[in-house]
Amino acid sequence: MAALLTLNAGSSSLKFSLWPDGVTRGAGGQVEQLGGAARLVFDGGDGEEAREIGPVDHAGALEVILDALAPALAGRRVSGVGHRIVHGGADRRGPARLTAEVVAELEALAPFAPLHQPHNLAGLRAARAVFPDAVQVGAFDTAFHRGHPWVNDTFALPREYYEAGVRRYGFHGLSYEYIAGVLAAEAPELHAGRVIVCHLGNGASMCALKGGRSVGSTMGFSALDGLPMGTRCGQIDPGVLLYLMDRRGMSAGEITALLYRESGLKGLSGITSDMRTLEASDDPRAGEAIDYFVFRLSREIGAMAAVLGGLDGLVFTGGIGENSALIRARAVERLGFLGLAVDEAANAARAREIGAGPVRILRVETDEESVIAAAVRAEV
Ligand code: AMP
Repeated sequence: MAALLTLNAGSSSLKFSLWPDGVTRGAGGQVEQLGGAARLVFDGGDGEEAREIGPVDHAGALEVILDALAPALAGRRVSGVGHRIVHGGADRRGPARLTAEVVAELEALAPFAPLHQPHNLAGLRAARAVFPDAVQVGAFDTAFHRGHPWVNDTFALPREYYEAGVRRYGFHGLSYEYIAGVLAAEAPELHAGRVIVCHLGNGASMCALKGGRSVGSTMGFSALDGLPMGTRCGQIDPGVLLYLMDRRGMSAGEITALLYRESGLKGLSGITSDMRTLEASDDPRAGEAIDYFVFRLSREIGAMAAVLGGLDGLVFTGGIGENSALIRARAVERLGFLGLAVDEAANAARAREIGAGPVRILRVETDEESVIAAAVRAEV
C-alpha cells in the first residue's frame, strides 16, 4: 500500500504523522508558531529534533514537512491524506471524502467553530496543492456524538434555534472513538457497559459511553462548555456574558479572547495553563486552580453517571489524564459512593487498571491519529 499522511491543522500549528506503508506509524511531528517565527519539530524515530524555519503559512509548512519526510517516504507516493476536522455538522456520523460538495458544507459550518474550522480547511487546501492526486478524507470531532438522545442534544431555547444548528455537538470524538476501540479489544465487558471517559488535556471534556456509543458529552455547542481547561472557562452562567457585554461594554471579540485564551487554569492561577507546572508550584493560586479543576471533574463524573444510569468503568486519557496521578486520584476522592476508588500503587505506577473499588478505573493513552489513519485507509 502507498503511504498515508494524517494532518491536524490548527491556528498556530500543523501536526502530522506519516504512515509509510499505510498501516504502520512512521515519522511525525509538527510545525509550531505558524505565521510567526515557525519551527519544525520532527521525530523520525530517534527522538524529537527542532529547527527554526521562518514565517510560513499552512501551505509553506506542508512543503517543509514534505521535505523532512522525503527520506522516510523513500520515493513512495502519498495516496491519501486524512484531516482532523473539528465540525462535521448535525448529521455526519463518520468520516467523509472531502469532495467539493462536502467541503462547501464544512465551510458553511465555520461560524459554529470559528477558531478551528477555517484552519482545518486551510490544512486541506494546503494538502490539495501539495498532493493533487491523493484522496483527501476528513475525520470529525463531532461525528462520534451524533447518536445522542434529543435531551442531550438540545438547549432549552425556542425550537427554531435547534433547527438552525444551535445544539450540543460534543467534541474530542476521535479520542473517544479510539478509547471505545481499546475497550472493545481489551475489556469487552466494559465496552458493553456504562463507561465515563475523561479526556483531560489543554482541552478537556468527558464522554458517557453506553455499549461503546456516546450518549452524553460535557462539551456542547462549542469547545468551551463543561470542564475548565488550560485557558478555556468550561461551564459558565450565560448571565455572566450578558453582564460583560451590557455593563462592561466588552465586544464579542474581547469576550471570545477572555473565554478561550485567558480563563481556565491560566485565569484562575494567574500563572500558567500547564497542569504540570501548577502541580510543581507552591503558589496558593496554583493550588486553588487545581482545586477548581478537580471539583468540576468530580461534579461532571457524577452528572455523567446519572446520564448513564450507573457506572461500570471510568477511563482517564489526554496529557493530564494519562500523566497526572494526582488529578486521577483527586478526581474520584469524593466519589466512593459511586464505587470509585483509586489503588494508590497502581496509580503511581501508571498501570492500565488503577481502580480499587467495584467500578473499574483505567488509564489509556489516546491516539487520535490512528483513528484518522484508519478513516483514510478505508477510502484509498
Ligand atoms: P494535551 O493537550 O493532551 O497534550 O495535554 C497537555 C496537558 O497535560 C498540560 O496541562 C500538561 O501540563 C499536562 N501534563 C503532561 N504531563 C504531565 C504530568 N506528568 N503531570 C501533570 N500534567 C501533565
